[in-house]
Amino acid sequence: MKRKAVFPGSFDPFTLGHASIVQKAIPLFDEIIIAVGKNSTKQSTFSLDQRIDWIEEVYAGSSQIRVEAFAGLTVDFCLLNECNIILRGLRNPNDFQYESAIAHMNSALKPSIETVFLLCDPSYSAINSSIVREIFKNGGDVSQFIPDKMTIK
Ligand code: ADP
Repeated sequence: MKRKAVFPGSFDPFTLGHASIVQKAIPLFDEIIIAVGKNSTKQSTFSLDQRIDWIEEVYAGSSQIRVEAFAGLTVDFCLLNECNIILRGLRNPNDFQYESAIAHMNSALKPSIETVFLLCDPSYSAINSSIVREIFKNGGDVSQFIPDKMTIK
């Protein structure tokens, strides 16, 4: 059976921290679906199309990675894609506290779905999409926080 994982998030924008999680997941799964959320509560800074285009640029040529838009429950997206693993990244204990609550809720909704957490590379643990957005909005250079293949203008 193919080992598949769904890596859901806002990716507003995708950062080196997210890329570090994908990199660590590549040897563990046959296929990784990066699921870019149309968030119903958060207004995104970057459009859904832009967020998807950037991630597709980063993983162009990598047959193991698929990028998809999704709305609604992550567990429903997983079932639709015949996947029972949700992949999430952890930077610190605060992430763990927040992420473990979501994982418990998801497992209550669909017990067949397991969440797998990976720790980011320590050098990326301070990278946060919301800070990257603030720097960008204020005219700062965010290139050191995002993959080389992404150009934010
Ligand atoms: P969401 O809005 O669903 O939290 P994000 O795009 O902020 O989506 O994050 C997606 C996933 O990536 C989450 O599991 C988050 O903890 C993780 N993540 C975010 N930034 C980093 C980072 N610098 N290193 C590792 N994981 C990260």
